[in-house]
Amino acid sequence: MPTTAAAPASGCPSAPLRQVAARLAAAYPIARTELEYSSAFELLVATVLSAQTTDQRVNAVTGELFSRWPDASALASADEDGLAALLRPLGMGPTRAHRIRSLAAQLLERHSGEVPEDQQALEALSGVGRKTALVVRGVWFGQDALAVDTHVMRLAARLGWTSSRDAQRVEKDVLAQRERETTDSAVPYTDGADLSLRLILHGRRVCTARAPQCGRCVLADLCPAAQEPDAPQALSVPAFLADLAARADGSATDGMQELLHRDEAALVDAPSMRHSAVLVLITGTSLVQARVLLHERGRTLRSQPGQFALPGGGVEPQDADAMATALREAREEVGLDPEQVQVLGAFAPVPMPHRGRLVTPVLAWASQQPPVSVVDPIEVERVVWVPLVGEGSLSELGRRGGGLLDGRSVGPLFDLPDDVLVWGLTAFILDAVLAGVGLPGWAQLTPTPQDADAPAPRGGRVLRAPQEIPAHLRR
Ligand code: SF4
Repeated sequence: MPTTAAAPASGCPSAPLRQVAARLAAAYPIARTELEYSSAFELLVATVLSAQTTDQRVNAVTGELFSRWPDASALASADEDGLAALLRPLGMGPTRAHRIRSLAAQLLERHSGEVPEDQQALEALSGVGRKTALVVRGVWFGQDALAVDTHVMRLAARLGWTSSRDAQRVEKDVLAQRERETTDSAVPYTDGADLSLRLILHGRRVCTARAPQCGRCVLADLCPAAQEPDAPQALSVPAFLADLAARADGSATDGMQELLHRDEAALVDAPSMRHSAVLVLITGTSLVQARVLLHERGRTLRSQPGQFALPGGGVEPQDADAMATALREAREEVGLDPEQVQVLGAFAPVPMPHRGRLVTPVLAWASQQPPVSVVDPIEVERVVWVPLVGEGSLSELGRRGGGLLDGRSVGPLFDLPDDVLVWGLTAFILDAVLAGVGLPGWAQLTPTPQDADAPAPRGGRVLRAPQEIPAHLRR
């Protein structure tokens, strides 16, 4: 597992909360959310939509959303298909559309279209959890409400205010710290909402999950987890992978998880599924150099012969976790030495109900390509390194399209040089990797039905037309 600025061990002194709040107030004079809104209704809807995606992505759709459906009454009677199409860039458009339409209907029925100020009343609305309710109370109604997201949780741990990973417990611990200090001093009370908003800004800009920049942090002399300015960075993930790595540490709450949850309903059956893991090994110190490791499965295998896949397989009893599974399988399949790669974390498991599997993608990185080769020619036909950008790469639009099984869409497809055709779960994961490093994902690029009939582009600007998966790759 990666090393980062660790949370201080229990018993370590904690940073004085009031001083932290004062320093953050100086660094970020305006405590604000990065979501764009102009009413309580817009803030509530935008916050609900921000679950498992980024504020920037939400802002990109809410301008049109709120101009077409400016209040609860309009949104409650919106055409759900049209709404889902607008929300599609966020992923899970139909689910999000249904959620906010129900939310609007409930606002109309229970609160005459107004947003309530009360925590319980807010939490009773469709799609509104504790954090969303606290954001609305704090940001719009100016209440002393400390919303805990992944950044607040991480900062609170590093500053020594909590040792918990449970959001409600973290909230309680931070407020208890504030109470202790307020009792001891005449320094003004720290508003919970402002503290939360500033911790989030600081967590995004300075105290990031993977590479906290203690050397330029205004809290460095107060923080028990501060690294020495001259200390080597514990983790040297290249910049192009930083966001993706931050989403793979098990606490991800943004778009990457969602991209990989292809079918949330299928998670209901997760307990009965066989658990597997795959290794997403990316090499290179810049996006231009970046390559991902794939292999072609043995052509005589009974299951998925000739398909291109990430190294991986079923979890064995001796595996400590999914990361151990992915590394063990990669060693067995392509001879990868686990010492030569840095595991950055694991994404949320992806259900594959038709195969009865729950697959955890594990992200790893190495600055240079480690030696790999075919270990067992029955299992593996060949090993390939596929570039992320440039000619013949995963992001070349003329090589990207959709796969079809008898006319039914099976998601993204990559048709790469040397007869490397990638579809299915591997293609979903690679597509999510592209989105995670800031390149357009399939969901944003899929042509409209009329585009689908257009000629395939040459180095073009749109995806190629969907294509049927060849018969020999269907088993
Ligand atoms: S010193 Fe600042 S950047 Fe470093 S761990 Fe503490 S809060 Fe985070």
